[in-house]
Amino acid sequence: MSNSMNYMNNCARPHKKARAFAFFLIQFFIIGCLFPVFAQDDTLPLVTADQLIDDAAKWDGKRVEFEGEVIGDIMARGGYVWINVLDGDSAIGIWLPKSLVPNIRFTGQYFAKGDKVEIHGIMHRACQDHGGDLDIHADYAAILEEGTKVLHPIQRDRLWWGITLGVASILSVGFWRYRERQLLLKRSRE
Ligand SMILES: [Zn+2]
Repeated sequence: MSNSMNYMNNCARPHKKARAFAFFLIQFFIIGCLFPVFAQDDTLPLVTADQLIDDAAKWDGKRVEFEGEVIGDIMARGGYVWINVLDGDSAIGIWLPKSLVPNIRFTGQYFAKGDKVEIHGIMHRACQDHGGDLDIHADYAAILEEGTKVLHPIQRDRLWWGITLGVASILSVGFWRYRERQLLLKRSRE
């Protein structure tokens, strides 16, 4: 009896092992299937504004990563917003759902350096939805670096020049009026 029990256990064991191995394979397969989804953003090409503008045809309809400084105003359009992102000398219009807008504290203006953001989205060379302009319809946005306030020190020599020119122009107007009056008096005496 005990012999036959041992025999049965020995038969069951390899079967269990095979099941465990199959389970392991299935998990491996599922992780393998999911991995490209997680890894997708690592393979996203990081493009500059110049590349997008100069090679617009190449990037048209492609999903890209773009980085730059948020400048100007953030313009709300229903459930979406427009933000302008400056990279080098050019700014690209980014169209993204309000819910995806990160907490932008600074936008580049005279008195501020804007937050640096990372954008993922589809580049449109001549967007049909937005008047045929080049833009990116973003599905991801994050702050990379917070901007700062920019102080412009008053340049003293410029200030003195301003005061000097101001005083000079007031004096010349005064002198011109004085001369005019003198001429009128002279004429009235003649
Ligand atoms: Zn568009």
